[in-house]
Amino acid sequence: MQKNVEIIGTLRKIDAIREQQEQIFTKAKYFAVNEKTIKETLETICFEVSQIMNCERVSIWLFNEERTLLHSQNTYDDETKQHSVESDLSDEVFHSYFTAIQNQRTLSIVDISKSEETKEIFKKFFPVSSVYHSLLDACIILSSGIGGVLCCESRKRREWTSFDRMVVTSIADMLSFLFDRLSRMDFEENLHRLAFTDELTEMDNYNAFLEQASLAISEISEEQDGIFIYINIDQFIEIHSALGPELADEIIKVVAKRFRLYFDDYYSISRIAFDHFVIFAPYDQGGVELKNKMEKLMTKLREPVHVAKQEVYLTFSYGIAYYPEDVRTPLEGVQAARFALETSKGQSARKSVGIYSADMHRHLKQKMKSEMNLRKGLDMNEFKLFYQPQVLCDTGEIIGFEALIRWQHPEHGLIYPADFIDLAESTGFIISIGKWVIHQAIGQLKKFKEQGLHDLTISINLSPRHFLQQNLPVFLQECIEEAQIEPKNLLLEITESVALERHEVVQQQIQTLSDLGFSIVIDDFGTGYSAFIYLQSFPITQLKIDRMFIMNIVHDEKSRAIVNAIIQLGKTLSIRTVAEGIETLEQWEILKEKECDELQGFYFAKPLSEQALNDLLTKLLGQSHMYLPLS
Ligand code: C2E
Ligand code: MG
Ligand code: MG
Repeated sequence: MQKNVEIIGTLRKIDAIREQQEQIFTKAKYFAVNEKTIKETLETICFEVSQIMNCERVSIWLFNEERTLLHSQNTYDDETKQHSVESDLSDEVFHSYFTAIQNQRTLSIVDISKSEETKEIFKKFFPVSSVYHSLLDACIILSSGIGGVLCCESRKRREWTSFDRMVVTSIADMLSFLFDRLSRMDFEENLHRLAFTDELTEMDNYNAFLEQASLAISEISEEQDGIFIYINIDQFIEIHSALGPELADEIIKVVAKRFRLYFDDYYSISRIAFDHFVIFAPYDQGGVELKNKMEKLMTKLREPVHVAKQEVYLTFSYGIAYYPEDVRTPLEGVQAARFALETSKGQSARKSVGIYSADMHRHLKQKMKSEMNLRKGLDMNEFKLFYQPQVLCDTGEIIGFEALIRWQHPEHGLIYPADFIDLAESTGFIISIGKWVIHQAIGQLKKFKEQGLHDLTISINLSPRHFLQQNLPVFLQECIEEAQIEPKNLLLEITESVALERHEVVQQQIQTLSDLGFSIVIDDFGTGYSAFIYLQSFPITQLKIDRMFIMNIVHDEKSRAIVNAIIQLGKTLSIRTVAEGIETLEQWEILKEKECDELQGFYFAKPLSEQALNDLLTKLLGQSHMYLPLS
């Protein structure tokens, strides 16, 4: 009879735990548990555990990063039916307890007053009148190590059973899941914030501007129009070289503040690069108020800026484009206002004001097209692939290369992709260029194989338009079969912008390519928020952390935190992380400490011509590990 009662009690406990577990998983999975609702969830858990375990007091504690303090998250007292948060416990005072809970899965004590491990707790933590007799604690193990402890305290003397221990560990594991999920959400949020903020001025960045301006356009009323203003400092290059980058940054901060004085939350305003700012302003017919604002802003901007005991006088130029007259979308608006600014600057380098006109646009596009006959370039074999080495972060050993296109133009010299890829995209010619790149890269992989370098990889950059071509997988498959190359040696880099639209098509394409054995790399990770969508639903092999974050990693704590977060995210999801733009040994050392997987940057090597690549490989061939000759 007694036995049956025990069995029924045990089964009840198991049911109660299971039910609680399910609730927590469901809440965590659907983000119902977050920083705001966690308090309530922990209160429920403490209460439930006190009932399941039949303990008078249950509490949850988390360590600080150094594990020198335990911060109380919640304590439930079943006598008073109250929840509370206690003061911190420190390792200095409760050293034996700290050591014990970090070295055992559970700490099970029958008599708190007698045990070595809890003697300090008994004396200093429990009140003099305390009647707690036994204690059962389980560690909360997070992906970063031991993170905290779940404590059950009993007034009665308890000989804890192995079933009791199993119950508290299973609840502690549930808490681990919950806290891990919360910290993931925390750094995802942090990344998201950074992806939308200009760090220097704390203004919106370009991504955020496009989003804000789209929203503003969607809310514009019948009586209103809108204006895009693209504005920059006339003397910025001179100031930058005369005063240096740090003071130039100070000046930008002052200028940003002045913009904010007149263009507040009602307007979309952003620094999109260096000294380039954009504004989108809705206005009522006539735009009198807006004109006043602009005049006041220009007066304010003329005031000298004080930096390093100097007075710096600045002038500004701007270009404008009207919505809906000239442009329909924020992207068009920014481009058109910039065209207008550049055209007017061609006539006068200072204080110029350009107003966009459709003629201006046609003229500029025509000029560019005639200067850059892409088809002729391809036919005349003027495109070249350069190869930038990628190395293991731990050792510096070469493991592959990124293929980067260049155009050796007969009149204009070496042209970089930034100056022709957009045009190739907009004319559709990018598909032919992409096919050429694939052929070249596979040709190079074939050479590697012939030289016995079977493991070297090549990453190629695919443009969104090419990536979305339905026959891309078949084309790639045919190319590698013909060259007898393994798909794992060819990595396909795509940028986050690809997923912004047509998410399902992209997902299908990535799945197909991945099924064929190709690896997919997200390039410039961290600059667009859609990356998270990729990570959740696509089989991604690598994340390439954008150069923007690496650039500031040595001096800027925030960039360091972001890089760290991306690396941890990669680890959690088993995705390799690659940092690009390494220019110094210091940057390498930080990334090594953060356990980034791979690196790429001028510090190791600039992109190499085919000839330079062959020379390098000839030098390194025959060595058991391939290291770059670093200066
Ligand atoms: P990406 O794919 O992010 O390539 C990295 C860029 O950073 C390259 O510029 C590279 O030369 C540069 N870089 C690498 N290490 C460092 C460093 O330590 N410091 C600095 N300052 N820069 C570094 P590149 O070759 O001008 O290419 C620019 C972008 O053009 C690429 O960015 C990629 O998005 C695109 N691109 C390049 N080749 C192709 C191509 O074949 N097809 C397509 N569709 N796009 C391409
Ligand atoms: Mg790339
Ligand atoms: Mg990149």
